[in-house]
Amino acid sequence: MNILVAVKRVVDYNIKVRIKPDGSDVDIDGVKMGINPFDENALEEALRLKEEGIATEVIAVSVGTSASQDVLRHSLAMGADRAILIESNADLQPLAVAKLLKSIVTREQPSLIILGKQAIDDDAGQTGQMLAALLDYPQGTFASALEIEGNEILVTREVDGGTETLTLALPAVITADLRLNEPRFVKLPNLMMARKKPIETINAAEFGVNLDARLKLIQVAEPAVRKAGIKVGSVEELINKLRTHNGILEGV
Ligand code: AMP
Repeated sequence: MNILVAVKRVVDYNIKVRIKPDGSDVDIDGVKMGINPFDENALEEALRLKEEGIATEVIAVSVGTSASQDVLRHSLAMGADRAILIESNADLQPLAVAKLLKSIVTREQPSLIILGKQAIDDDAGQTGQMLAALLDYPQGTFASALEIEGNEILVTREVDGGTETLTLALPAVITADLRLNEPRFVKLPNLMMARKKPIETINAAEFGVNLDARLKLIQVAEPAVRKAGIKVGSVEELINKLRTHNGILEGV
């Protein structure tokens, strides 16, 4: 059983992003980039399935510029067997990425495809669902636990008010939540070794799919600055303020 994992290069999660002065986009010039955190969970889960003897090969795929090689090297250092870069200099939206991933799935025929539940740059949370729809595969999104049983996968999902468990027939598309696992720490010698491993690079244009943008970014703006809080002297004063300012304690 092969597992394909989609890994995206995004702004490091510790960075507070700035907005370009003209409000046209987020300014990522010179900003530290890294693997999307949810994609590390996706990869970790695939590697654990391999270590348990359930999977035979783990393939990491990234769509982006040649700079995305770094997240593929990170994936190889974590333990992926192969890495594929679908190269494009265009700013690709989830539907375009899903179409490219579908082409790779058609070629590699994995039994399981694991993506992150969302990329922390645009927070779209769409690619996995679109990929499943394009492939006409079952999908289990926001997975916090996975278990393979023969030709099926049991997916525990984070849903409003708790969790639910679904049984899906393989091949299936899964999107990983942070609670799925704790990704392993990448050791420096592994990173050095990963530098020597090959990365298969395919030009996105070779797949002959329509990658045109369907969404238009109109403007990016900072969230409104929160007003400073105030200190109240007593519980009575607090209740009085809540009553008169918000009305939420009406009738108490
Ligand atoms: P999104 O729909 O953009 O929030 O992304 C959800 C997931 O799809 C990510 O966590 C990745 O696993 C995958 N994904 C999105 N964009 C890319 C990309 N350019 N390359 C590889 N995987 C991607």
